[in-house]
Amino acid sequence: MTFTLAIVGRPNVGKSTLFNRLVGKRLALVDDQPGVTRDLREGAARLGDLRFVVIDSAGLELADDDSLQGRMRRLTERAVEEADICLFVIDARQGVTPADEIFADILRRKNAHVIVAANKAEGNAGEIGAMEAWSLGLGEPLRISAEHGEGMDDLYRALVPLA
Ligand code: GDP
Ligand code: MG
Repeated sequence: MTFTLAIVGRPNVGKSTLFNRLVGKRLALVDDQPGVTRDLREGAARLGDLRFVVIDSAGLELADDDSLQGRMRRLTERAVEEADICLFVIDARQGVTPADEIFADILRRKNAHVIVAANKAEGNAGEIGAMEAWSLGLGEPLRISAEHGEGMDDLYRALVPLA
């Protein structure tokens, strides 16, 4: 049995960085500038002995301000529909933003199975932001660093019961 994990969240929180880490190939573009990746991207992920399909929901970066919300919503809904589990990524250094709240609402309304990950939490960074993520009401936030590979053991432990 395998499963599909969709990585969702607003632009620039580190979704593609995490996707690349899980897939181990540079299938999704990562850039400091918003505007690089498109739509949904799928890869074969490994984490410990787990093998699963991972979806990077990009594309939001391309939207202008007017269409951002609608596009964000449609793309996230599509990712949720294709996935068994959603990894909802926030930026632990910024804490919960209004855009994060919108994503949380979409995920709740879709009744998605959600794991919250507070990214960019390498070292002792982002502790407050990660605590804030409890307020999303989507369960215990994992503290991870997609860039530095921290918290992958916690992610593994969160996924094992679902595999
Ligand atoms: P996406 O828009 O959500 O796909 O975000 P990206 O993966 O493109 O990353 C956006 C920016 O955040 C890039 O500059 C990344 O290098 C940076 N970033 C991603 N993960 C981490 C992390 O764990 N720690 C830190 N400090 N920066 C990160
Ligand atoms: Mg991206």
